[in-house]
Order: sequence, then structure tokens, then C-alpha cells
Amino acid sequence: KLSKKEEEEAIRRSMAMEEDDIHTLREVSRQEYLKKREQKKLEEIRDDIEDEQYLFEGVKLSEKEQREMGYKKQIFELLKKRTEETDDATEYRMPDAYDQEGGVNQEKRFSVAIQRYRDNAAGEKMNPFAEQEAWEDHQIGKATLKFGSKNKKQMSDDYQFVFEDQIAFINASVMDGDKFDELQTELHEQSEAQSALEKLQADRKTLPIYRYRDELLKAVHDHQVLVIVGETGSGKTTQIPQYLHEAGYTKRGKVGCTQPRRVAAMSVAARVSQEMGVKLGHEVGYSIRFEDCTSEKTVLKYMTDGMLLREFLGEPDLAGYSVVMVDEAHERTLSTDILFGLVKDIARFRPDLKLLISSATLDAEKFSDYFDSAPIFKIPGRRYPVEIHYTKAPEADYLDAAIVTALQIHVTQSPGDILVFLTGQEEIETAEEIMKHRIRGLGTKIAELIICPIYANLPTELQAKIFEPTPEGARKVVLATNIAETSLTIDGIKYVIDPGFCKMKSYNPRTGMESLLVTPISKASANQRAGRSGRTGPGKCFRLYTAYNYYNDLDDNTVPEIQRTNLANVVLMLKSLGIHDLLHFDFMDPPPSEALLKSLELLFALSALNKLGELTKVGRRMAEFPLDPMLSKMIVASEKYKCSDEIISIASMLSIGNSIFYRPKDKQVHADNARMNFHAGNVGDHIALLKVRSMKRARDIRDQLEGLLERVEIELVSNPNDFEAVKKSITSGFFPHSARLQKNGSYRTVKHPQTVHIHPSSGLAQVLPRWVVYHELVLTTKEYMRQVTELKPEWLVEIAPHYYQLKD
Ligand code: ADP
Ligand code: MG
Repeated sequence: KLSKKEEEEAIRRSMAMEEDDIHTLREVSRQEYLKKREQKKLEEIRDDIEDEQYLFEGVKLSEKEQREMGYKKQIFELLKKRTEETDDATEYRMPDAYDQEGGVNQEKRFSVAIQRYRDNAAGEKMNPFAEQEAWEDHQIGKATLKFGSKNKKQMSDDYQFVFEDQIAFINASVMDGDKFDELQTELHEQSEAQSALEKLQADRKTLPIYRYRDELLKAVHDHQVLVIVGETGSGKTTQIPQYLHEAGYTKRGKVGCTQPRRVAAMSVAARVSQEMGVKLGHEVGYSIRFEDCTSEKTVLKYMTDGMLLREFLGEPDLAGYSVVMVDEAHERTLSTDILFGLVKDIARFRPDLKLLISSATLDAEKFSDYFDSAPIFKIPGRRYPVEIHYTKAPEADYLDAAIVTALQIHVTQSPGDILVFLTGQEEIETAEEIMKHRIRGLGTKIAELIICPIYANLPTELQAKIFEPTPEGARKVVLATNIAETSLTIDGIKYVIDPGFCKMKSYNPRTGMESLLVTPISKASANQRAGRSGRTGPGKCFRLYTAYNYYNDLDDNTVPEIQRTNLANVVLMLKSLGIHDLLHFDFMDPPPSEALLKSLELLFALSALNKLGELTKVGRRMAEFPLDPMLSKMIVASEKYKCSDEIISIASMLSIGNSIFYRPKDKQVHADNARMNFHAGNVGDHIALLKVRSMKRARDIRDQLEGLLERVEIELVSNPNDFEAVKKSITSGFFPHSARLQKNGSYRTVKHPQTVHIHPSSGLAQVLPRWVVYHELVLTTKEYMRQVTELKPEWLVEIAPHYYQLKD
């Protein structure tokens, strides 16, 4: 029998042989290989069945358990029969199920794998049977999953003393890479560069997009709309706008480039200004909500998709732009989707406007179809192979599993940085704290591990840290949200840990309730995440879920945001752009009509629309604020209650989210004390926010809101001692979010009854007022209301008589 090594050697030798020889050779080695595997599985399953029969003797099994057991036995019989077959069986047949499931021809699949193997310089590391192996694990997983995996093997002992709990992984498949000899030479050339700017210029030339520069410019010249596809990190975002500038497009107007995330817009603009050797905010700038870092000079403007959307309000034909690049189009954020409709429309009457739609994924046909069959420009990828590892059994606590895995990698794997995908700020902070604690416990037994968190609310100065090169001998572990999936490229990442979750907005159009929810990611996301490890060398991705989970439980693609969100904001904006017939707006994927109606209903309740669905004066004023309709209504209503000064303070604090309380975790106790001090007197969360006015950002936002007040002609009036007036203004915006206390201490939302709770971080969590309004719902262990204020029920009837009629 061939050992794995011999088998690889055989395959390698076969590369030089004729096709026929390859065929024979691989048939032989493959059968040997499979036989061994099957033998092993057979033993495992037999053990399992015996265990279970023993355990369940005399116990009456449910129908499902019986089926499960029967299935397991079937697999056992099948494998047994197979291993008993004589050696002269000429061909191994894949079970038909695989062909049906995958819809792929196995022979072809295999020859593709061989081809890849031959093509790839890193081929030695690849296992052409990987897919087969994955499939088998997954089939067998089906049978063993339910009973849990008993044969969780202990990992190698050399670091056993370090950790008590370890996670066993199965190396299941390899994502292919591309040729990279050229890359090596380029990297070599690069290292010879001299000054920093020269080095940056040399860096630019090593990006995959560089060699297609001229072709790309020609395509932009020849076509009005172009779809551009290229692997993350190939240089789309940082290079294309520079190429356009170099080619003279900025003489006729700005080049605008949209990003779904504001951190990306800021960081990319910073990078590009460095590459061009100019000051950020001069030729190269960015614009994100409440922060405009551009000037008269700015010709390359990076901005969030939401900001470009707002620019339509002031400049419906985007006259100031010669090129608009809708970047990261695959993310399909709500704003990007709406932008598609708007830019497609203006492209018709502005033939001089160039439109680029760029995306990191290959399903570009959809974009092309939408933009009247626009040509697709593909930037060939360049990625090293990535080994994918799955856990043997599902992990109950993915956060803990992620931390353990990171430390495991740190002690056992060769140098290279680690990227961990977590779902949000709180989780990242917790992980950071636990990791620091464990590292301290290990003392000098391990090399230095530098922990870098990155999420949207992280103060800008700290964001830059993730891009700093890792010092010799140390290792960096980046704890990131989804932001590192495609928008940000961090060089030097060799290991990715993917727990398989992200935080997503989910919206129930029937109740109109929106909630942030930790949700399993899609297969497309999982593969993007894995790909992040293979950018600067062969990488490894550790998935904290099983191969079975991957194949069976993950959706292929993420549902576009437009189909799972509250549309009130967008509807208000489209209405103020004069687009009334929303049902016939040119959506790439239309939102559920129920959701559209619901948002019309909400806007009507807020008096932003009249019965005919037309924008009212209140609505027109509300649309001026770059805020959610309920917040902007709260501001507009403050005119009546003569407390606009206080209300815009609250709105600006709410707009910066949780970062008001940002403190390094070590000082968390103080932060919490500080937080509690703000709550003195139990005046409610919104009021508490009013008391924290020190943050600069909040003050900037506040300044802008003040400017907008002036624009909609609402006088700035302060009413510092009348909390009732302030609360009434809040209620005017948030009455659809009211809830009433129940006997058991929980709350019931009023309009669409649902059980909710006051978030433990709230100053009212101990007080439990009879009636409250809340800012948002967050689903963690329970459905929690965050930012809560007490109200009097009679206000509801006073403020929104058309919405509420009280029975008692
Ligand atoms: P794409 O848009 O195709 O994903 P980018 O243009 O964002 O690619 O990135 C190209 C390269 O520029 C990355 O590989 C990275 O090396 C570098 N880069 C981008 N942003 C930064 C930054 N803020 N700091 C340092 N390097 C960066
Ligand atoms: Mg990009």
C-alpha cells in the first residue's frame, strides 16, 4: 500500500507522463487511498453503532432516532461491502448521490483537480482527493452528527501543557490558487525600491490590476457602463480612480468611488492620498455621514454609498462627477441597490458620465444584465492555495472556540498573522479581554501576540494599527467584523478563523420590527473569508463548523439587504427625489411589497406622507436629515415642544452608537462606573445621553444637525429643565416603538404585541417604568430594547391619535 507521501510522489511523477499513464496511475493510488479511508471510517462507525446500541438498549427510540440509527447501519453495511470487494475491481464508483447533489461530473472534477495540481507551483501541498474526502466526511457526518462526535482526538502533545481545551480540525479541502512565479519576481523587484514614495509606487505595480491598466482605460473609454470583477486585494478600489485621474478624467469632473462601509472609505482614501503623495482632504478626500474630508481641490472622492445617495438630493444629475464607481457592488447594501437604479437612470441622459460597477465575486452577469448587458472586465485573480479545515463536531461556543483556535495557531503554526471574524464590537472587546488574560497566564512560554481589533466605531487612531507591519518574532491577530471580508485588505494574513456568523439586520415586514441578529453567513461569505488567508502566501482557514454544516446549512449567497430591512429611510429619500411610483422603481431585486407598504404606513404615521402618499411639509423637513425617519421626526417635533437644542444633542449621541462609552477593556470597570454616573436620578437613557457631551465626534455631528435645523427653519431653542418636553419630542418620533410593562417584569410592545426586555446596560433596567419607548431592539439571549425612556400613555393618544387608541 502506498503511504500518503508515496502517493503524492507518484502523482508528482505522473505529471511528466502521458495522459493514459496518468489515468492508470491515479486509479491505482486513488483506490488504495480510498480503501484505507473506508477501512478507518468503518471501524469508527462500528464503534459508534456498538456504543449506541449499548447505550440505548431497552430505551424506546423516537422515530427520528430510529431512522438515524438505520441510516447509520446502512452506511456501515455499504462501507463494509465495499472494503470486502476484491482488489481487481477496476473502477471506483462515486455514490450517485454526490453527482445529484453537486450536479458535477466526477471524472471531470478529478481531472480538473489533477490539472490544477500540475499547474500549481505549490502543488506539493495539495491533496487531489480533498473534495472526495470532504464529501465522505459530510455523508458520514450526517449519520454521526446527531449523537455528537465521540472520537474527538487529542491533538499532538507538544503544547498540551499549554491548553486544557483544544479543538480538533479536519483538513477537508483546498481552495485553488493561481500561478504566482511572476508575483515572486515582482515582490523581489519591489524590495529593491528606495524611498517611501518610490516604494509605494513600486507596490502599485505589483498589484494584479497593474498589467491591465491600459486595457482597462481603453474599455472605460469605449463603454459608458463597465462591470469590473476582480479578487479582493487586486487593486480595484485604490488603483482604478488613480488610473482615471492619470488618464485625465478628473479634468471634466470628480471621480467618485462608493464604499458600503465608512471605515473602508476613510482608510482607502488615506492610502490613496499616500500613494499620490498628497494631503488627505486635498486632491484625495472622503465623505462619510457627518464627516466631510474633502475640499475644492478634491478630484478623487471616496464616500459611503449612503453619502452619494444623499448627494442626489442636492444634485440630481451628479453634474460634478465625470466618473462614478460603485465599488463592492457584491455587498448589495440597501444604498448600493438604490444607487444602481438612480445611476442607471442618469446615465441615460448624461452620455458623458462613466459608470463603473466593481465587485469581488464572479456573479457579475447579474450586474451586467441589469445595466443593459454592460461588458464585464475581469481582472484575473492571483491567490495562493488555501487549506480549509473544519471542526469535527459543531462548536457550542464559537467565541471561545475562536480564541482557543487563535492561541493554538499561535503556538503550533509557522509565522503569519491571524484574522478572526467576529460579529460586533462587544464580542471583539470580550475576545480581546479573554485573550489578553490567557496570554498573561502563559507568560513567556509563548511568543508575543499583538491583538488588533477593528470595527466601525473604533476610534480612527486605533484603526490604523491593523495596517502596521508585525515586528519580527511577534504575531498579529486581527479581531474584525465583516469589514475585513472584502472591503479592507490586511497584508500578511496567513490564517483565518471563521466562526461562521455575522450580525445582520433582520426585518419583519408584518410587525414592522427590525432587529440586529447574529446569523450564519453564506457560502459566498465563507469563501471570501477563507480567501483572505491566501493573499501573500499559501494560507489556512479554520472554520469553526463542520463540513456538514457548510454544505447543508449555509445559504449560497447572502440575501440582499433590500429584502430584509426597513425601507422607510429609502422611501422617504426617493419620495423627496420626486420618485413616487415605488412599486415600479427599477430595482435589481425588488423588496417585498409588504415591506414597501409597511414603510409607507410608518411614514404616514409619522406624518411625513399624506393619505395620497405625497410628501408633507413635515416629510420634506425630515428628509433633510441624514437620519432614520423616527429620529428626524423627533427633531422636527422638537420645534413644537421648544427643546430643539436638547433633542439634537440626543440625536447626535444616538448617531455615534456605543462609542460614547468606548474605553479600553482593561478600564472597563471605570467605564461602567462612568456610565452609571450618567444615569444618576434614573431619568432614562435618552436623557442620560444628553449629559455626556464631551465627545468631539458627537459635537461635530451636533454642529451639523444645528446647521440642518437652520436649513429647515427650526429655531434652536433650549429648554434644559423640562424633561417632559424632551420626552414628548422623543415620543413623537418613536411612538411606534412603545412598550408596556408586564407582571413578570418583561415588556410587551404595544402595536404588534411581542415580548421584549430592557437591556441590562440601561439605567431603567432596575426601575421598570410602566410605559417606555425604545430606540432599537437587539436580539441576543433575549429580545432587548436599547436606549429606553419612560413615557406617559396619554402622550401616545395626544401625539399619534391615528395610530393608538387606548382601551382603558
Ligand atoms: P481591491 O479593491 O481590489 O480589493 P484594494 O485596492 O483595496 O483592492 O487594495 C490593494 C492593495 O492596497 C492591498 O493589497 C493592500 O496591500 C493595499 N492597501 C489598501 N488599503 C490600505 C491601507 N489602508 N493601508 C495599507 N495598505 C493598503
Ligand atoms: Mg476594494
